[in-house]
Amino acid sequence: MARRKTVNKTGILRVEGIPYHDAWVAYKCISCKQMNYVNIGQQLLTPKEALENAVWKCKYCGFVHSKEADLPFDNWDENYNSADSKTALRFWEGFFRIATEHLESYWKQCNVCTRILPFHAFSKHSGWGPLERQMECRSCKGAINAVLNPKRTKEQLHESAVRRRIADLFLEGENETIDFHDLFDRFNSRCFKTKEPLDINKRETWAIDHILPSKYLYPLTKENAALLSRTANENKRDKWPSKFYTNNELIELAKITGANLDLISSKRPIMNKNIDVNKGVERYLQVREKSDLPKRIKEIKKILQVYELVDLLSDENKKLLGFE
Ligand SMILES: [Zn+2]
Ligand SMILES: [Zn+2]
Repeated sequence: MARRKTVNKTGILRVEGIPYHDAWVAYKCISCKQMNYVNIGQQLLTPKEALENAVWKCKYCGFVHSKEADLPFDNWDENYNSADSKTALRFWEGFFRIATEHLESYWKQCNVCTRILPFHAFSKHSGWGPLERQMECRSCKGAINAVLNPKRTKEQLHESAVRRRIADLFLEGENETIDFHDLFDRFNSRCFKTKEPLDINKRETWAIDHILPSKYLYPLTKENAALLSRTANENKRDKWPSKFYTNNELIELAKITGANLDLISSKRPIMNKNIDVNKGVERYLQVREKSDLPKRIKEIKKILQVYELVDLLSDENKKLLGFE
């Protein structure tokens, strides 16, 4: 599906062509048990209408759901499966009632993440189609609101502090001391992004960009350092390089620093797995802190899982952290 930029300032794109006013019914195929979604447009069905008119063909196995269809249940007496039996008719009445009876039975498609989700996954919005719900689901709405209202919760601040500390401990001893004069020479004493001239003696006006961010566990080395103005570096922060530098800049950057061009131009961040995870874990668990050990074990476990570093742990550490 084609995506286009919206005029809103969030940078979170809507997907064109999503019928976000429409209602959907969802049902699990009674033959193969797969979920199916049927767009029914802007008119909700009554159970009676559905029973009379619906012909819902399973997208996976082709089984047709309609009161004219025989039931497929092996564990029923054969006669009860027959479409002209009373049992089958009662079954079909119930089947279509489940899918159409209540507002809550309906589904709707989010025009940001494109998932088809139950009615209650969307917040109320009067006058918006038959379900009177927002066009984006509550998870996407949450993301949009986070951009519009960037205040972070206390837990998030704690979490990001924990991540930073873990990254620092993993990188301890791996960071190199950067020779400022050499850095200025290699970058011609200019901000690599804006090309403005920088003065090595005015330390508050320039910064060293950690090209591959420590957030993804890359140490600061000569290869991983770029010279930026303070302002440019504030915009770069811990963005993955390809999210901040243009393609030409990335090529140039690789030439200057010797950085791996494939890696720095990757569209998605790649976690550095060339680090001593076990050392990092030990350092984290040894640091004296107010928070108790079980809590810190929980924190580091979560990070190791999110960063997909569990496989790099020694058997001993896996056991210690309760991974096996
Ligand atoms: Zn099926
Ligand atoms: Zn969504």
